[in-house]
Amino acid sequence: MQPTPILQAHALVKRYGRLTAVDHLSFAVRPGVVTGFLGPNGAGKSTTLRMFLGLDRPTGGAATVGGLPLAETPHPMRVVGAMLDARAVHPRRTARDHLAAVARAGRVRRDRVDEVLELVGLGPAARRRAGDFSLGMKQRLGIATALVGDPGIVIFDEPLNGLDPEGIRWARGLMRDLAAEGRTVLFSSHLMGEMELTADHLVVVHRGRLLADQPLTDFIAEHTSAHVRARTPDRDDLLTALRRAGLDAAPDAAGPGVTVTGGTTDDVGRVAAAAGVELAELTAVRDSLEDAFLTMTATRKDAA
Ligand code: ADP
Repeated sequence: MQPTPILQAHALVKRYGRLTAVDHLSFAVRPGVVTGFLGPNGAGKSTTLRMFLGLDRPTGGAATVGGLPLAETPHPMRVVGAMLDARAVHPRRTARDHLAAVARAGRVRRDRVDEVLELVGLGPAARRRAGDFSLGMKQRLGIATALVGDPGIVIFDEPLNGLDPEGIRWARGLMRDLAAEGRTVLFSSHLMGEMELTADHLVVVHRGRLLADQPLTDFIAEHTSAHVRARTPDRDDLLTALRRAGLDAAPDAAGPGVTVTGGTTDDVGRVAAAAGVELAELTAVRDSLEDAFLTMTATRKDAA
């Protein structure tokens, strides 16, 4: 692995006719952490990744690797490895033949092929034709293809699509391991729940524009709110006591639950005990990444 250069988008723009798919995006992706490129379908993620890889030409700005467009970098396969579309394999080639062809094209040593086959868990399937693979196995082959050149930067477009729960856990662990080795790991997803479990840092896009570029925990803390849920057989008594204590408490439309904002579980427990109200359940709830994203896109005019 070579020293890892930084991946950078500088006021990157891509227009397709009248559609602006990528709209003045600027961000940098650093080594040693897993960076999630998050946005709904159509947000411009794939287009941006393709520009990093030199597969699409920017209408404006630049996408660079260590300050240069990838095409101007010597031995690009050893610098950046990418999986864009896992289905893009020759159906009649075996997994090993496919990887050997990639290794030849990138002038990478041949024994790397068996290493990456083992790394992605396709060792036993090495002699099977890629056309017969499940989507999950194709994803693994795509990831192996990206890693053949032992690149310092890996870019995966929707790597979790088509994977079963075990495969998702595996891919998440692999991305973490690659980052822990000091590589730059950028992966896109529209699956916010998965992103929440996988990424350390987030670059969030919506309609081609940058909405956020910050650690995942900061993003959630800034764009979500915490509240407390309580369940009790004496709901009216609890509501009265909480409101007297100055807490904002609202009953569920149906059922015995109460939602409290502006206080902690300690506060609610103390108020309930003082009022002699029995609590059946007391939980601190924080909104998910999905909630954060929806709040953000709903409140930002420029994202609408
Ligand atoms: P994402 O990866 O976030 O789902 P894309 O980058 O694939 O988003 O697409 C962004 C927008 O650009 C979409 O509206 C898509 O339809 C459009 N688009 C992507 N590629 C092309 C193309 N080759 N020609 C025309 N429009 C395109």
